[in-house]
Amino acid sequence: MHNYGAENITDEQIYSDVKNLNDNYNKRNADTTQVIPIFKPLIANVGFEFRLANKDPQGNCTNGIDRINTYKTFKANDQSKLNPWNRSVYLNIWVANTLENTSAAAYAYKPASAHYMFYYDGILAWHSYVGSIGTSSQYNSKTITHEIGHCLNLDHLWGATNQPGVACGDDGVLDTPETKGHSNCNILYDSTCHPPIIENVQNYMEYSYCDYMFTPGQKDRMTDALNSDVAQRKSLWSDQSLIAAGVDGPRVDCKPKADFNTNKQFSCIGNSIQYKNQSYNDTLMTAAEWTFDGDATPATSTSLNTVQVTYNTKGWKTSSLKSTSNAGSGTTTKSDYVYIADPVGKNVTGKIFHFEDEAEFASWTNFNYFNNEFKWDYYTYGGYFGTKCVRYKAYDTRTFPNNTVGSASGDIDELITEAYDLSGLSQGNAYLNFFSAGATRASINTDIEDSLIIQYSVTCGNSWVNLAKLSKSQIINNGKVTNEFFIDNTTTWDAKTFALPAQALTSNTFFKFRYRPGDLSNNFYLDNFEINSTPVSVKNINTQGYSFELVPNPATNGNSFIQLNTSESGNAKITVSNILGEKISTFDYQVNRNILNQIELPSNVFTQKGIYFVNIDINGKKNTKKLIVQ
Ligand SMILES: [Zn+2]
Repeated sequence: MHNYGAENITDEQIYSDVKNLNDNYNKRNADTTQVIPIFKPLIANVGFEFRLANKDPQGNCTNGIDRINTYKTFKANDQSKLNPWNRSVYLNIWVANTLENTSAAAYAYKPASAHYMFYYDGILAWHSYVGSIGTSSQYNSKTITHEIGHCLNLDHLWGATNQPGVACGDDGVLDTPETKGHSNCNILYDSTCHPPIIENVQNYMEYSYCDYMFTPGQKDRMTDALNSDVAQRKSLWSDQSLIAAGVDGPRVDCKPKADFNTNKQFSCIGNSIQYKNQSYNDTLMTAAEWTFDGDATPATSTSLNTVQVTYNTKGWKTSSLKSTSNAGSGTTTKSDYVYIADPVGKNVTGKIFHFEDEAEFASWTNFNYFNNEFKWDYYTYGGYFGTKCVRYKAYDTRTFPNNTVGSASGDIDELITEAYDLSGLSQGNAYLNFFSAGATRASINTDIEDSLIIQYSVTCGNSWVNLAKLSKSQIINNGKVTNEFFIDNTTTWDAKTFALPAQALTSNTFFKFRYRPGDLSNNFYLDNFEINSTPVSVKNINTQGYSFELVPNPATNGNSFIQLNTSESGNAKITVSNILGEKISTFDYQVNRNILNQIELPSNVFTQKGIYFVNIDINGKKNTKKLIVQ
């Protein structure tokens, strides 16, 4: 599992691990010479052989290494165990960038626990503990040997805990002496538990990092596990399984699986994007054929490694790569993978994005990078204003068994605006405003992982600058909601205002909303986005169970509308006063809850240009707003 980083370790590093396993389980590891004399006669030749699969569950040719681009490679846990191959045929090892449990190099379940959790059976390992080369080392190279011991029912030498050095304990194996366990090799002849019985510090099931051996007792216990139906271990080495995994005969060379990534997925017309060949499943690629969208320069390429591409029109771009090796070819097409924006800034100063018109949402670029259900989308069942807004759907609606892996935590999704021309604004009189409503399924604050980062770019997405990072109560203002959080008349909306620095006030500034959900997230809503010379906090905020706006304001033709959202239906008394406080018009209007009420203020009310006040009274709840008539 990788995001095209160092965790996407080479085939060679994985092959080195398989070699280590076969050495260690067959007493071929050279470091048995370092085992202290008393244990030398107890070094077992376990006699198990490990082979990388040569056929995947669909019967396709595989080199045994599946490469999955996922955010679950970061802080990996059971939810990261994507695409498990049937454990009756395969032993799955997932390799990650980092583990959620930072004190572990890897972990695995013993057969009794794994039996019912078939979807979590296997090993999850930090990439720097796989093999002995590349991102790993000789020192770290015994980790998978240890974990397979657990998969085959071995405990740590001190028993079934993960804390060495605490208490003398036993692993149920007769020829491994009781021990407290060791996290180093300082005392090779330790006999703490039952003096003078020397403990087996150099055993693979220790934490000593000077581990060179299994004992015959451990061999027997692992052999028993492999002869048991518990967690289908017996099936792993049946003739049928060996044939299904393609390891019953000589290995076959497979054709490549084509893959690529780019150094960025958002850029502008005329800017360069670097494509990188990430094909796998065959180490020696002999040819590559790239095809880019028609407006790309170049439109095709045969570069084996990277290609620099520029586009001359805006929009989503589709690219494909055919990779060829001596064993054949594979092709992949990524639709709408990169977005090319128009760098010419639009003037939106003072415009409020109510999102009642879907075109406002569609003008922004929506990246659901990992193509899952946690993403920004257009919401049409409510809003701070009107009945539509922008949503980040963080609520996990999946059910068992689909929800056993791929949870929201770690995901990243982004909304990027068009380029805006902010050159008419000045620092101190430039604000990014919006209203938001969020909820969580977490019961305690520390379990709220959500964050919303707002960034701007004045370099067409080449670099982004943080404007604000909002987390916890800054975005969760509706508390704990156990079911999916939808907008209704009880929803609390917060006004958000961010002063824009001088550096952001260019003629082509982009803004980005980057949401990162957590496993206990609920939905987040955003409405009334605007860039204005006034901070939203001085505007009238919904404190009365309803909110309204005067549109347009200033009213240029002397004609204006009240747009009103209310949580309770009733009679609205509307009063228009002039700057002297004299009532110049009073009328009633029947307003309905949960729709956008549009109330016309007739032009004949406004006989002069100037400032007016519009007061609304619904069941005794009053709000006033200023209207400028030009
Ligand atoms: Zn362990």
